[in-house]
Amino acid sequence: MTTVEGIEVVREIGRGNYGSVWLVRQSGSCRNLVLKCVDLTHCSAAEVEAARQEVRILAGLRHPNIVSYKGSFEVGRRLNLLMGYCAGGDMASLIKRQRGHLFPEVKIVRWLIQITMALQYLHNRRILHRDLKTRNIFLTRSGLIKLGDFGIARILGSSHDMATTLVGTPYYMSPELFAGLPYNHKSDVWALGCCLYELTTLKHAFPARDIPGLISKISKGKIVGLDEQYSDDLRHLVLSLMTRSPEHRLSASQILRLPYIRQHMSLFL
Ligand code: ADP
Ligand code: MG
Repeated sequence: MTTVEGIEVVREIGRGNYGSVWLVRQSGSCRNLVLKCVDLTHCSAAEVEAARQEVRILAGLRHPNIVSYKGSFEVGRRLNLLMGYCAGGDMASLIKRQRGHLFPEVKIVRWLIQITMALQYLHNRRILHRDLKTRNIFLTRSGLIKLGDFGIARILGSSHDMATTLVGTPYYMSPELFAGLPYNHKSDVWALGCCLYELTTLKHAFPARDIPGLISKISKGKIVGLDEQYSDDLRHLVLSLMTRSPEHRLSASQILRLPYIRQHMSLFL
């Protein structure tokens, strides 16, 4: 990347779908930040829009469990988004590093509470994340959850497409999307259920190579049970987030009101 005045590059930390992600520092500061650079010259109109949308959405958000927005600027045809650095990496990598060794329940529930609080904050503002997955859930050095990657997030009602396009990662696609219904806040909750399933089993809920395979897995509706080390409450919660009908699936606020969740909240707040 070309250097930007006032920003020192430490190293490249990732290659995103639409560009590169760098660990940087602002001159004179020792605080690490992340710079996401999107080269708009090689982007389709939709990709340019996605990059600008991510900046617009993230700039308007402020929540302890959402990656913090630090600024943005365009240099030539390059769009730069500056945000807080999550030194703990992403949840998918953390799951991989476990090598089959299950996480303790208290840890999982603390993560779940934080992800759900971020989701509730978004949904209260009529924002849909639309790409909730373990790769987009980041951790700070001290283990706090930060939800990131708002590249395909949408503000409901602000555009005529009403979020009907098929988006997101197929693994996390909910049954209503296969039925052609619009993406809604309950589709984010389905994805949350898939993430919770991964946290409790270290495996994808519906491993499939393609969309037809995934549709067949989901329609069979067979979800392999959780390990017996987990409580009935947690096992029940995983299944209830993966309820096929969106009307019967809990909302983020309802999850946070469950006695099981409130009990854990009072322990760690
Ligand atoms: P994409 O749209 O390609 O998924 P992401 O924003 O999810 O882009 O980031 C791509 C990669 O960059 C991630 O897998 C992660 O390794 C890294 N990354 C992104 N944001 C952060 C951050 N705030 N802190 C640490 N690493 C990050
Ligand atoms: Mg991502």
